[in-house]
Amino acid sequence: MIQRPRGTRDILPPESRLWAAVEAEAHRVFSGFGYDEIRLPVFEPTELFVRGVGEGTDIVRKEMYTFADRKGRSLTLRPEGTAGVARAYIENGLGQWPAPVRLAYMGPMFRYERMQRGRYRQFAQIGLEILGADTPAADVEILLALHTFLAALGFDDLVILLNNLGDPEDRPRFIARLKEILEPHRAELCGDCRQRWTTNPLRILDCKVERCRELVAEVPPVSELASDATRTHVDAVEAALAELAIPVRRAPRLVRGLDYYLRTVFEVVSPGLGGDTAICGGGRYDRLIADLGGPQVPGTGFAIGEDRLIEVLPSAFRERVLGRPVVALLPLDEGAAVARCFALARELAARGLVTHTEVTRRSLKAALKWAVKLDARAAVLVGANELEAGAAQVRDLTEGSQEAVAFVDVADVVAGRLPGPETVLR
Ligand code: ATP
Ligand code: MG
Repeated sequence: MIQRPRGTRDILPPESRLWAAVEAEAHRVFSGFGYDEIRLPVFEPTELFVRGVGEGTDIVRKEMYTFADRKGRSLTLRPEGTAGVARAYIENGLGQWPAPVRLAYMGPMFRYERMQRGRYRQFAQIGLEILGADTPAADVEILLALHTFLAALGFDDLVILLNNLGDPEDRPRFIARLKEILEPHRAELCGDCRQRWTTNPLRILDCKVERCRELVAEVPPVSELASDATRTHVDAVEAALAELAIPVRRAPRLVRGLDYYLRTVFEVVSPGLGGDTAICGGGRYDRLIADLGGPQVPGTGFAIGEDRLIEVLPSAFRERVLGRPVVALLPLDEGAAVARCFALARELAARGLVTHTEVTRRSLKAALKWAVKLDARAAVLVGANELEAGAAQVRDLTEGSQEAVAFVDVADVVAGRLPGPETVLR
C-alpha cells in the first residue's frame, strides 16, 4: 500500500471543517483591518529563501525541500511566506500602491523537520504583512489584528511574548559580548551551536539543549545592548498595546529563527501546547526587501501555525462548527420522492443545517439506522403518500416523535426546532 510521506497529514472530515472555519474567520477579521489575500506560488527559486530567510538559519541549512526541475533550475518548496511576499512586492511594483501595503496569506509550507507533536513537514500558516511603514503603529496594528482574530476564535489564555532584537547595527556589539562570555565554554555547546558560533551566533540564544540554555543564561539579553532608538520603538509598541488592553509579556531572551527580523519580535504561546511551542511568530523586517534587491521598504508581519492553532482551538468554537445539526432526508420511492427530498435539502441547507439525503435505496428501517449513525437530529420522510398529501413526515430522532408537515413549511419547522443552526451563519 502506498502511504503518505512522513510528516504529512490527511485532514479528514469533519476535522477539515474546522480548518475551513478558521480560514473563513481569518478572512473576515483580517479584511476588516484592510488585509486582503495575496496568493503566491508554493515553490520559488531556492535563491529567494537563501537570501531572504538567511544562509545561517536552521531553515536554510537543514529544513528546505530543494529540487532541480527538468531544466536544472533549483527550486524550493516554500518554508515560510514572508520571503515570497517580499519577492511579489518587488516583482509586481507594489511600491506604486498607496503605502502601506497590507497583505494576508495562507497555505501550506514545507520544512524537512523531525516529526513530533505540532511539527510536520507540510504544515499550514496564516500570515499578515504590512509593508511601507516603519512606525511602532504598524507593529501595533499587526498585533491588534492578530489578537482580534485569536479572540474571535475564543482564545483567552494565549500569551503574546514581546522583545526588542535591536537593529542590525547593534548586533556586532552584542555578538562580541556573547562570544566573550561563552568562549571559555565553547566546547560544552552542542554540535549545532558550535556551528552557529560562526554562521549565526544569535541563534545560540534560542537553543533548546539543556547545557546550552544554562550557558546562555549568563549572557545579558539582546534588548539590553540594543540602541536607544530601538528601545523607544518597542516601548511605544508595548504602551499602545496596553492602551488597547492587549496583554503582552516582555521576553528579553526571545529571538527568532529567521535572519531578517529586527526591533520588534514576538511570539504567541499557548498553555495548551507547553511554553516552548509557539502558535505564532512575527516581527519587523526593515531590510528584507532591500536585501532581495528591491527598494528600501520596511515591513512587519507574523505567521500563525494553523496546525498548532487547531490543536488548541477553544471548545466553544469547535462545537459551533462541528455541532451543526444534521437532518436526514429519506425518499421512500424513486423519482418524484427523491426530487422532493432534494428540493427540501436545498431549503434546509440554505438555513445552515447539514443535510444528508439517502441515495442508495435503503429500506426505511435501514435508512433510519443510517440516519442515527450520522447523528442526525431529524429525518424527513417522503413517499407516495406524502407526495399525495403534499406533506412530509418529520421525525424527531431524539424523541422518536413524528408529525406531518406541509412541504412548504418543512424548512421553517425543522430549522426552528433544531438548536441554533443560525449561529454558524454570519
Ligand atoms: P519552532 O521554533 O517551533 O521551530 P519556528 O520559529 O521555526 O518555530 P516560524 O518560522 O516562526 O516557526 O513559523 C511561524 C509558526 O509556524 C510557528 O510559530 C509554528 O506555529 C508554525 N510552524 C513552524 N514550523 C512548523 C512545523 N514544522 N509544523 C507545524 N507548524 C510549524
Ligand atoms: Mg523551526
